[in-house]
Amino acid sequence: MTVIGLDDTDSREQGMCTTYAATLVADAIRETGGRVDRRLLVRLNPAVKQKTRGNAALALHTDVSPETALGLAADVVDRLAVGDDPRTSPGVVVADGDPAAVPESVRRFARDAVRDFHATDDAVKLAESAGYRHRGWRGGRGRIGALAAVGAWAAFEEWTYEQISYREFDRCGTPRAVDEDSVFAAAEAAYPDAWDTVDTEENQAVCVPNAPGPILHGVRGDDVNAVRSVAERIESEPVERTTLFLTNQGTDAHLRAGRLGDVEDGRAYRLDGRVYAAPETRAGGHVFVTLADGSGATLPCVAFEPTKRFRDRVRALRVGDELTVCGEVSDGTLKLEKFAVRALNRVETVVPDCPDCGRRMKSAGRNQGYRCRACGTKTAGKTEQYVERDLEEGWYEVPPCARRHVAKPLVRGGFDAPTHPER
Ligand code: ATP
Repeated sequence: MTVIGLDDTDSREQGMCTTYAATLVADAIRETGGRVDRRLLVRLNPAVKQKTRGNAALALHTDVSPETALGLAADVVDRLAVGDDPRTSPGVVVADGDPAAVPESVRRFARDAVRDFHATDDAVKLAESAGYRHRGWRGGRGRIGALAAVGAWAAFEEWTYEQISYREFDRCGTPRAVDEDSVFAAAEAAYPDAWDTVDTEENQAVCVPNAPGPILHGVRGDDVNAVRSVAERIESEPVERTTLFLTNQGTDAHLRAGRLGDVEDGRAYRLDGRVYAAPETRAGGHVFVTLADGSGATLPCVAFEPTKRFRDRVRALRVGDELTVCGEVSDGTLKLEKFAVRALNRVETVVPDCPDCGRRMKSAGRNQGYRCRACGTKTAGKTEQYVERDLEEGWYEVPPCARRHVAKPLVRGGFDAPTHPER
């Protein structure tokens, strides 16, 4: 088996994308009589600044020789890769052998590429020490993603599917002609085996990208037949080709366990804390809430405006609620992707009502408790009262329209508390 890793062949201006380049390499392999057994679409650290959009890298598992593989991939990159875009820095890495049996160092490199940062030199050194062929263009930064894609099959246990359908090339750049009713009907029929196809509340066909580029739609899910059938049922302009990818999308592969006081920018965490400062809606509609933990550390968290109705969940939090939060830390603030309510603070302290007449009591002076002006009744202090909450225990998430590629939708299951999935 030969593994081809490919990354950074896309350009903002031309709106190309690396999945398309991988598809062209697969075609070239087939034209030479070779076989492609698997195509991986691997999402890497979403905090990487150089990414064009979703920080995707691609791998093909094939039976052609490593020399042929490198030659075919290099031809496609030469053909596509967008000479004038200085931000494009393509890379190809080719490994000989079983993708499940890459060296431990390569497996670790792939794992870390989703959670951390790598340098091109380290990727090149590691590829060479593993005996892999590689080629870079304009600095070849894409070899980071390409090597991670080579190691991905061994690095990740959980895989989902995306059926990507491409536009006819001449139409790229024009508005996509997709019948939305057919998207909603197909999504409904296949849910939850196919997820994040639409956002029913925002009335948005999430599987149809807005960005320029050759993708007409991409249908994600846990079941091959479900994603295929949704793609087939969508009525649209002609589909030039359609391809199934195995992906680490929707798996939370980017999250690491951490503690509130130890977080670093550019990494994504799962953290426990207690609401320390009440939620606050700021300019632009972004909702902030600050958490604290037992050590005294605090961390601001934010639900940005595009997370839409998720912000109502955050606004419903109260000081004292115990949470687990998930998201990437950027500029010292955690960008919420989901959170679990572990315990709700259902108690508030209020000025007591008079036990005799029921009127609200008034302060009897500093540190002197409360007194009823009508009856003269006195009490020593405030009293506790039950608060009705419109949150429940369990997990809440951003809606499909705001999901990050790698974030796991609640509907996929496997969470440690009840879930409140968005669809
Ligand atoms: P598209 O979605 O259109 O394919 P993209 O968002 O995947 O684009 P790229 O153009 O591929 O973005 O750019 C990402 C760059 O970052 C690549 O060169 C890749 O090698 C590099 N990269 C990926 N992961 C890491 C990481 N963890 N540390 C450092 N660099 C990384």
